[in-house]
Amino acid sequence: MSDLERFRSDVRAWLEQNAPAGLRGRPGSELEGVWGGRKWQWENPDQRAWLERCAERGFSAPSWPREYGGGGLSKDEAKVLGEELRRLALPPPVIGFGLTMIGPTLLAFGNEAQKREHLPKICRGEIRWCQGYSEPGAGSDLAGLQTRAADDGDHYLVNGTKVWTSYADKADWIFALVRTDPNAKKQEGITFLLIDMATPGVSVRPIKLISGSSPFCETHFTDVRVPKKNVVHQVNAGWTVAKALLGHERTMVAEAFGSGGGAGGKRGTLSERAKHHLGSENGRLADPILRDQLAQLEMDTRAFSLTMQRARDAAKAGHQPGPESSIFKVYGTEVNMRRQELLVKIAGPQGLGWEGPGFDPEELATTRDWLRSRGNSIEGGTSEVQRNVIAKRVLGLPD
Ligand SMILES: Cc1cc2nc3c(=O)[nH]c(=O)nc-3n(C[C@H](O)[C@H](O)[C@H](O)COP(=O)(O)OP(=O)(O)OC[C@H]3O[C@@H](n4cnc5c(N)ncnc54)[C@H](O)[C@@H]3O)c2cc1C
Repeated sequence: MSDLERFRSDVRAWLEQNAPAGLRGRPGSELEGVWGGRKWQWENPDQRAWLERCAERGFSAPSWPREYGGGGLSKDEAKVLGEELRRLALPPPVIGFGLTMIGPTLLAFGNEAQKREHLPKICRGEIRWCQGYSEPGAGSDLAGLQTRAADDGDHYLVNGTKVWTSYADKADWIFALVRTDPNAKKQEGITFLLIDMATPGVSVRPIKLISGSSPFCETHFTDVRVPKKNVVHQVNAGWTVAKALLGHERTMVAEAFGSGGGAGGKRGTLSERAKHHLGSENGRLADPILRDQLAQLEMDTRAFSLTMQRARDAAKAGHQPGPESSIFKVYGTEVNMRRQELLVKIAGPQGLGWEGPGFDPEELATTRDWLRSRGNSIEGGTSEVQRNVIAKRVLGLPD
């Protein structure tokens, strides 16, 4: 038996013993699952047990080094673990920006003390992170940000406003871009800073969206004292860290929205929902035009999932996502937006309900998911900006 075969059989035995029966067959998604953190409300004891057991074994961040709470698995071992988790259709034990964004960034740029302080808490789901990049006057032109961090001895004094901070009201810590040198060229005066949201002077105000939910907030900083040890990498060199994190973010957004499992999410596959609303003739979907669109979307989704799988394998082998993550971001979000449009078309007038009688919960969720998907081409950098990155940095086209 090869080492890898032995590893697979160990993993199988471990999963047999430790994966709660109630979670098997419930794979979840990159957005639906346990986000963790101090404010997390546990609704399902199985999820809690699953996270504790996985964290203990290093399986919540399988390829991170063991000394930081990860599993220390090689690329091949992590792949085997992924296959075994998929075989039982188990959900990830914990999800969120800690695992997908700040964690990989700290592994690449953090100092030893920062890695030891923050990474194990991410693996155990104890601390939830949010991202403080965008400001009212700095979105696509991110380097124009104005939140100021003034030198105050062993601290910085932070003042300013971030906007569109996803889940800031639920997060414990924020990774933020701040201006430490207002006189330098704009990219050169920025520092990447870790801020505890419980520090006096941090306040958040949720923003209500067209979909009816409030997933993001305005985040205000008023004379917030942040220890200098919370600078990641170097003072005024935050732009390099920021760009690396954006690579992880774009890949994460593409994964979260683009793979869709060829399905309409937890409410059934796209074809099941189409058959429910449109009926079938001779075993085929009755409406030939929608049937054609559905087949095309399923093929594109499948092709995209396989491409993302290749990118995941490369990441496990240590490849840092580069400008190609912009391609994933544009394509993954476009596929999701097409999927949500198609689901509304398939449901017809039943896909345009907001509340009240006459619509079942699945139909109401279809409308809200469709409205939520409008933000896909904006979050993590707009599609126009990604196309600029692809043109310049992937294709090498002139400015
Ligand atoms: C769902 C969602 C979640 C988000 N979560 C977060 C978060 O957690 N943290 C965070 O910091 N931010 C977050 N954001 C903010 C997001 O990163 C910004 O909205 C985005 O970068 C665009 O910035 P803006 O809104 O200021 O638009 P603007 O930059 O003002 O752009 C307006 C329009 O102009 C176009 N445009 C701008 N510059 C160019 C150019 N050079 N070439 C061509 N077209 C251009 C854009 O494509 C867009 O269509 C989130 C946004 C959304 C929608």
